[in-house]
Amino acid sequence: MADIIQLLPDHVANQIAAGEVVQRPASVVKELLENAIDAKAETIKLLVKDAGKTLVQVIDDGVGMSVTDARLSFERHATSKIRSAEDLFQLNTKGFRGEALASIAAIAHVELKTKQEQDEVGTAITIEGSEVVAQDIIVTPTGTSIAVKHLFFNIPARRNFLKSNTVETRHIIDEFQRVALAHPSISFVMYHNGSEVFNLPQSNYRQRIVNIFGPKTNEKLVPVNEDTDVLKISGFVGKPEYAKKSRGEQFFFVNHRFIKSAYLNHAITAAFEGLIKDGTHASYFLNLEVNPQTIDINIHPTKTEIKFDDEHTLYAILRASVKHSLGQFNIAPVLDFDRDANLDTPYDYSNKSASTPTIEVDRSFNPFDTEKQSTPPSKTYSSSYSGRKETPTAGWESLYVGMESKGTKSANDFSEMQFESVESTASMFDDSQLSSKQSSYQLQNKYVLSAIKSGMLVIDQHRAHQRILYEEFLEYITGKNTVSQQLLFPLQIQLSKQEHDIVLNLKSDLEHAGFVFQNFENQMVEIIGLPINVPESEVSIILEQLISDVEHEVPDANFSAADLLAKSLSKSLAIKSGQSLTQTEQDHLVNSLFACKDPNVSPTNRPTFITMTVDELDKKFM
Ligand code: ADP
Ligand code: MG
Repeated sequence: MADIIQLLPDHVANQIAAGEVVQRPASVVKELLENAIDAKAETIKLLVKDAGKTLVQVIDDGVGMSVTDARLSFERHATSKIRSAEDLFQLNTKGFRGEALASIAAIAHVELKTKQEQDEVGTAITIEGSEVVAQDIIVTPTGTSIAVKHLFFNIPARRNFLKSNTVETRHIIDEFQRVALAHPSISFVMYHNGSEVFNLPQSNYRQRIVNIFGPKTNEKLVPVNEDTDVLKISGFVGKPEYAKKSRGEQFFFVNHRFIKSAYLNHAITAAFEGLIKDGTHASYFLNLEVNPQTIDINIHPTKTEIKFDDEHTLYAILRASVKHSLGQFNIAPVLDFDRDANLDTPYDYSNKSASTPTIEVDRSFNPFDTEKQSTPPSKTYSSSYSGRKETPTAGWESLYVGMESKGTKSANDFSEMQFESVESTASMFDDSQLSSKQSSYQLQNKYVLSAIKSGMLVIDQHRAHQRILYEEFLEYITGKNTVSQQLLFPLQIQLSKQEHDIVLNLKSDLEHAGFVFQNFENQMVEIIGLPINVPESEVSIILEQLISDVEHEVPDANFSAADLLAKSLSKSLAIKSGQSLTQTEQDHLVNSLFACKDPNVSPTNRPTFITMTVDELDKKFM
């Protein structure tokens, strides 16, 4: 049989390699920024058009390249950064594979301009799909500019696979932030479609964080510093009370390289244990310096995962130093929450109520919460928690206030819904049962049980309320008549640049939902009106949840901002499981649920209730 194995031509090999290196425009951003840093640039400019789909350009004032190097830089495995395998264990550069430029040039139009300090003139090279189409001598400043245009022009499948501009821009900003955070001594600017997104002057680490995430960040930061033989830590963690629902602001850098490590992340979580609520995440910006010989960055083509020789030790040191910092800055409670307090309370004190701890912990998290009213009200659905002791029914109206107001503001829609509900409930509920005193019963502060004609109904209170609020919000957002409650004092909310952009994108939907904005300035939003069913105290939590939802939403064909907004708001505002409901609240929940257009499932398509028939019950007793 004839030989059939052939060597792939270089441009094909490069295209295949490109699949590993370049997943999306953000990958190009990362590679180009890292090359600029390796070239010792002091100022780096990133220009992006159409989320990088049309252009990604990085301009630096680094060392530049000679004519020969400029040409060689596009060859595969051409690198100036390592000479032998041993060098891999002494890496002080970002790059070392010599693959990035070759890969990028295989799948895009690339224009390189570069000049070294000592040279009078520089070199320009244009490459399209691995082919050099032009090479010139040019006048250009010292440094390098690489423009990558029409990414994936020759791989339509990859191009079509790219996500919406919002999502791709998000990825680019993520990469940009990671690189910028790792190098505060370099100044960075980023432009998107001609407008400035970031302008980060050379600064110290704290200023860099603040310049990226907004002025409000400053007060949240607690410094962490530790210097041991194996590990040097510097950076900041966010104070516990600023823990976020999204994992957005969590950064580890190892020797100035952004890495992901679930294991080290766990060390931080462990240090924060007991200080933040479940489901929230502490922010951190931590630089770890280790001997390059003790890590292996070679295991991942895009190099965000690395292997440490002694992970356990790093874990222990990291956890201890974060704990220490939290303690030093008087953030960690001195009390040990794990201990049963009754055991060491002297008998004559046992009936006295404990005094409010003076140390500041997460304001909304208080392990002594169950009894004490003097503690600040919990942020999550505080109205009904704290109000219920004195006035048992006080909080409930707020749960359904939207439903009622709807009756007054748009009689038409509501009567239609009511009509539907009469129809659907008429057959389900036995009148005689409903009129009896106790029509529903709450189980474990989680389920509401109700007798129906055929047997029993078990409603998941959280999901059911989510459904009710969701339909309500959707109606507001998509309908014409918006109802807002005017705020006495404007509410000012600080946002980071991207958060601001996300909210700005949703502005008109938010306004339809009932938000009234007075000012929409740089990183600051001023709110003067809210939807009637949104308590003022919840606003920042709701916005945060919304931003996090938008960031994590993978847009598909039926992505709609209105739907997302309604889902997010209803998720934030729905009564939680664990919350006890009065009789009236329970009844109202049942009735409102069955007044919904689609009562069977929650907005995320999970069942809101199940039924159990008498037959089924009978069988269980056989
Ligand atoms: P690597 O970074 O792994 O070495 P690349 O393909 O990213 O591989 O780059 C190839 C080579 O091109 C680099 O080793 C470097 O010598 C040169 N180079 C790339 N970008 C720049 C730049 N911005 N300034 C100076 N030299 C550069
Ligand atoms: Mg590189």
